[in-house]
Amino acid sequence: MDAVRQRSLHETAVEQFQRAAELIDVEDRYRQILTHPKNEVIVNFPVQMDNGEWQVFRGYRIQHNNVLGPYKGGIRFHPDVDLDEVKALAAWMTFKCALVGIPLGGAKGGVTIDPNRHSQAELQRIVRRFTHSLGSNIGPDHDIPAPDVGTNSRMMDWIMDTFANLAGPANRHAVKGVVTGKSLVCGGSLGREEATGQGVLYSLRHWCGETGARLDELTIGIQGFGNVGGHFGRLAYEAGCRVLVVGDHTGTIRSEKGFDIPALWDWVGAKGGVAGFADSEFGIDAEDVDSNALFTTPVDVFVPAALENQITSARAGTLECRVILEAANGPTTPDAELILEARGVDVVPDILANAGGVIVSYFEWLQNKSARAWTAEDVDNRLRTTLWDANDQVVCAMKELGCSRREAAYVVALRRLVDVYDRRDIFP
Ligand code: GLU
Repeated sequence: MDAVRQRSLHETAVEQFQRAAELIDVEDRYRQILTHPKNEVIVNFPVQMDNGEWQVFRGYRIQHNNVLGPYKGGIRFHPDVDLDEVKALAAWMTFKCALVGIPLGGAKGGVTIDPNRHSQAELQRIVRRFTHSLGSNIGPDHDIPAPDVGTNSRMMDWIMDTFANLAGPANRHAVKGVVTGKSLVCGGSLGREEATGQGVLYSLRHWCGETGARLDELTIGIQGFGNVGGHFGRLAYEAGCRVLVVGDHTGTIRSEKGFDIPALWDWVGAKGGVAGFADSEFGIDAEDVDSNALFTTPVDVFVPAALENQITSARAGTLECRVILEAANGPTTPDAELILEARGVDVVPDILANAGGVIVSYFEWLQNKSARAWTAEDVDNRLRTTLWDANDQVVCAMKELGCSRREAAYVVALRRLVDVYDRRDIFP
C-alpha cells in the first residue's frame, strides 16, 4: 500500500492562506508573493564547547514579508528546527501582524539545537555567534527577533548586547530595539513575559461573550506548561476556570477537581516539567495518566501550547471539547481541522489566539524608540483593546463570508496586505 505523504508545515501554511485567498479572490501576483518568503538566510557557525571541542551549528532567519513594516518574529532553539518549519512560522507572523493591525511584517529564525544539552556559557556563545552571523540581516528598523520555543529573555539580552557592540559606540543605545522580549532592566516591557498567555485568555473571554459561556465555569486542558501554557493556566485559574488535564514532554497529569495551579506553576518552575507533581504533597487530587488522556478527557476548552502538528486526525476524533484555542503555532493539521469542523468544535486560530506576544513586542519596540517605559496597566489595556478589536473583526468576516474562524482571520489579514500592495503597486 502506498504511504500517504504527509504535508510539510510550509505546505500547511500555504493551504490555509489559499483557502482564504479563494474566498476574496486575491489576485494571482499577490498569491505568488505571499506564498514565498522574500529572503531565506541560512548560516553555519562554529562555537567552542566547554570541553574545548568545536561544533558547527546551523541557523536560519526567514524574512517572509515586510510590506506593512519591519520583519518581525521569534527565534526558536529546538532539535527539529529546519528550513521548512521556519518558512511556515515566518509566513504565520506576516498574517498575525496584519490581522491585529500592527505595522510589522513577518519573519522567523531558528537554530537546530537542543538547548537543554548546553551550559549557560555555551548557550551564550551560541547566541552571540549566531547574532554575529546574521549581521546586518537584522536591525531595529529592518528585522526584529524575539523569543520563541527554547529561547528566553536572557538570550534576547545577549542578542541586543552583541548587536550593540557591533554597531559601534555612537549607536549602541539607538539599536536597543533590534530585539524584543528582553529583560526589564535591558529595555524589555512590563507584561511581555506573560503577554501570549494573557492574549489567549482575552480571546477566550471574547469567545465567551459570543457564545454566552461563563468564563468561571469553564474546564480546561492544556498541552505544554512553558511560557505560554503556564501563564495561560495561571491566568485562567485566577479567572475562576478549572484546569483538569495538563501534558508536557515529561508526562500527563489529570485532576477531577482541577489543579492547584499556583502549586503546579512552582513545581514546573523548579523541576522543569509536570512529571512527579501527582506524587508530591501538592498534587493531592492529581493522578498520572497516559499521554492520550490529554486528548480524551472531556473539557470545555483545549489549549495546545506546545509545538505544531499536535492535533492530528486521530486526536481530532477523540477530543471532547467545545473550543480549541491555538496558543502554539500550527498545532492543528488541515485534515484534523475538517474533522473538528464536522464535529462542531470551534477553533480560534493561532494567528489570533497567540498574537498577544507579538503585540506586546510591538509595544516594547515603541518604548525603546521613544526611550520611555509604559506602566503595566497601560500595556495591558492596549493589549486587550488590540486583541478585542481583532476578534471583533474576525467575527464580522465570519458572518459576512459564512466561513470558518481561521479563514476569517486570514481574510482580515489579507485585506490589509492587499490594500497596501494595491496602493504601492509592485516595484519596479
Ligand atoms: N514567537 C512569538 C510568536 O510566534 C512572538 C514573536 C514576537 O514577539 O516577535 O508570535
